[in-house]
Amino acid sequence: RGDAAEPAIPFAEPGSLTRVYCVTSGKGGVGKSSVTVNLAAAMADSGLSVGVLDADIYGHSVPRMLGVDTGPTQVEKMIMPPRANGVKVISIGMFTPGNAPVVWRGPMLHRALRQFLADVYWGDLDVLLLDLPPGTGDIAISVAQLLPDSELLIVTTPQPAAAEVAERAGAIALQTGQRVVGVVENMSWLLLPDGSRTEPFGSGGGQTVADSLSRKVGTRIPLLGRIPLDPRLREAGDTGAPLVLTAPRAPAATALRTIATTL
Ligand code: ADP
Repeated sequence: RGDAAEPAIPFAEPGSLTRVYCVTSGKGGVGKSSVTVNLAAAMADSGLSVGVLDADIYGHSVPRMLGVDTGPTQVEKMIMPPRANGVKVISIGMFTPGNAPVVWRGPMLHRALRQFLADVYWGDLDVLLLDLPPGTGDIAISVAQLLPDSELLIVTTPQPAAAEVAERAGAIALQTGQRVVGVVENMSWLLLPDGSRTEPFGSGGGQTVADSLSRKVGTRIPLLGRIPLDPRLREAGDTGAPLVLTAPRAPAATALRTIATTL
């Protein structure tokens, strides 16, 4: 915002009707990307116009999880995002050759992010989900600058150690002024063949993060849902067919659909 020479970011314009959610976590591997793609697919399935910007420089896995098998195309000066399962997708991985790691420094990342927001033809989106890298690094700060009205959605596992770092990722909102929309607990339990539940990652992490962030921020931040472990969720991610669409009645899919409706 503010630089006349740069194209405007439509989502940052006053009166923009697009809700922008930044999905973040304290550390990797807690299911942040799985949650992002399933929320996106569920929202698109309910008739909303949805885009996902995969800004996870360490593990850009969104295109695969959503079943995107083509890259973006260029029409005049705009980048046209590919679309799969009703969701428009742009990933930082689409702009790095082969499977090369992203080794860009802060200013380069900031410029790339700006381009993904301003030069991609997203159309009139109801919702834009950003899959952020875990933690509180350069991308999280750039996003807050470029999209001050975006809201944070925190993903954690029930494990106390994961919850502690997730809380830090949420507390960035105190500095950026972003709203924290809520906490999602993933990998909460596993259903055993005899119908009982086991909790391999312990319990309580999601509620702990929600409570302590509420105290820090001074408003009530809800625990939006708890998603069980389900091997089908992993398989669905590997095959690019989101669980919310392929097995909508699975408890993990129901939890994700409920969260998508709440947002
Ligand atoms: P992150 O984006 O936080 O690094 P991912 O979404 O890539 O995490 O998830 C890490 C791994 O765990 C992936 O292989 C994913 O398929 C798997 N996974 C995530 N959530 C679940 C779940 N609820 N049940 C089973 N597997 C899951």
